[in-house]
Amino acid sequence: MINYLYQEQNWQKQLNDLIIDPLELLNLLELPKEHLLSGAILASNDFKLRVPRAFVKKMRKGDAHDPLLLQILPHHLELQEHPEFITDPLGEEAANQLPGVLHKYSSRFLLTLTGACAVHCRYCFRRHFPYQENLPKNEDWLNIKAYIEDHPLINEVILSGGDPLTLSNRKLQLWLERIESLPQIKILRIHSRVPIVIPNRVDEELISLLKNSRLRIIVVVHSNHASELDDYTCNKLAALSFEHITVLNQAVFLKGVNDNAQTLINLSHRLFEARVMPYYLHVLDKVKGAQHFDVISSEINHIYQEVLANLPGYLVPKLVREIAGEKNKTPLFGVSTF
Ligand SMILES: *Cc1c(COP(=O)(O)O)cnc(C)c1O
Ligand code: SF4
Repeated sequence: MINYLYQEQNWQKQLNDLIIDPLELLNLLELPKEHLLSGAILASNDFKLRVPRAFVKKMRKGDAHDPLLLQILPHHLELQEHPEFITDPLGEEAANQLPGVLHKYSSRFLLTLTGACAVHCRYCFRRHFPYQENLPKNEDWLNIKAYIEDHPLINEVILSGGDPLTLSNRKLQLWLERIESLPQIKILRIHSRVPIVIPNRVDEELISLLKNSRLRIIVVVHSNHASELDDYTCNKLAALSFEHITVLNQAVFLKGVNDNAQTLINLSHRLFEARVMPYYLHVLDKVKGAQHFDVISSEINHIYQEVLANLPGYLVPKLVREIAGEKNKTPLFGVSTF
C-alpha cells in the first residue's frame, strides 16, 4: 500500500476518493475477505459502505474488532428483522415542516442542507430518512425565513445532516449570510462528523468564515472513541477553539465500540486535550439494521455510574435518549428504568 498522505491532501479530493468497496477496505486493513459474510454485502446494498481513507488510517491493521472499523463495516445482522427496530424511530417524517426543516424543539431549528455524509455510520438513525426529496432549494429560503419569523422563540439554527461540512465553503457562506440576515438568530450550530473523518476539512477558509460571523458559532463533532482523535485531528479541532468557536462532542453508546467505562473515560480526556467538551452520550436510537449495536439499559447504567465516579463533572457527557414527540432530549442519569 502506498503511504497515503491524507494530511497533505485537499479535503474535497479526499471526499471524492472515499472507500466504497468492502473488499478494498478489508484488503487495506489486511483482513481476510471471509470476514465479510455474504449478508454484509447485501446489507451494504441498502446503505452503502462509505468511509474516508483518513479515517481508515486510524484503524489497526489486522484487527477485525477495531472499534472504528465496527462503526462503518456492513454487518450481516443488519438484515435481521426486529420488532423494536424500525425505519423512523424518532418520528422525524412527522416533524418535517418544510423541505430541509425539522422544528421539534422550541428555541432551535434544524436545517438540513445536504443528505450526503462523508462516512456512513451503520447505527445512524437517519439511514432510512428520505433526504433526497427533502432538501431546500435556493427558492425555498423565503419560506424558511417566513417560518422562522413566525416563530419568534427560535434563536438558534442548527445545520445538521446529512453532514453540512460536506458542502463547499462557498455554499456554506451563502447560507450563513442568509441566517445572519435574521436578527432573531443569535447562534449557529453545525453538527458534523467530517472534522473527525477528514480533519483537513477544517481549513483556513472555513475558520475565517466562521470567525467572522456575527453569530455565536458552535461546532458539535461526533466521535465515539479516543482512537478517532490522533494528534493531527486534535490540532484541527483545537484550531477552532483558538478562534472562539465552541466545540462540543456527541457520542453514541455502541456495543463493541465504547461499551466500557475506561473507553468512555479515555474519550473524554482525549477530547479535552483537543479543547472539545463532551456534550451528549446518546443511547442508540432503535433504527432498523442497528440492533447489533444495542446495549441493555442496566449495563449502560452500570457503565455510566463508573464514568461518573472517575471523571470531573465537566468531562461527563449527558446520557440522553431521544423519544419521539418529546420537547427535548430526555436525560437518563439517575433513571433506573429506561
Ligand atoms: C437533538 C436535536 C436538536 C438539538 O437539541 P439540543 O438538546 O439543543 O442539542 C434540535 N432539533 C432536533 C430535531 C434534534 O433532534
Ligand atoms: S448523519 Fe452522522 S451518524 Fe449518520 S451517517 Fe452521517 S455522519 Fe454518520
